[in-house]
Amino acid sequence: MSKEKYPTKESIGKKLGWREIPIGGLITRRASALMNKTGSWRSFRPVIDESKCINCSFCVTHCPDNAVHFKDGKRSPIDLDYCKGCGICASVCPVKCIKMEEETKFKK
Ligand code: SF4
Ligand code: SF4
Repeated sequence: MSKEKYPTKESIGKKLGWREIPIGGLITRRASALMNKTGSWRSFRPVIDESKCINCSFCVTHCPDNAVHFKDGKRSPIDLDYCKGCGICASVCPVKCIKMEEETKFKK
């Protein structure tokens, strides 16, 4: 078992057990999420039928990109700059009012 605390040249590329994995990390800038417009990857877009939405906020709490918000008891529109089209919101919506549609439908 490796006693190394940090990755070394020798440890890189080796298949290690989980107890042997050296400490890792991610170097990023503070608040960098705002700079990464994850919406540019999207191939499907969530489309909400507003007439059916009950403002339960499930989509807000489950969205991994914080692309939809909740304020004063109401859900915001989806911020398409950051929505990557994962479809989680559509899966969790209890009244099934979110449909994932192909992004190509919206391109001009
Ligand atoms: S599709 Fe994914 S990223 Fe977009 S609003 Fe829904 S949960 Fe968030
Ligand atoms: S999960 Fe569905 S019903 Fe709930 S706030 Fe979102 S869109 Fe509306």
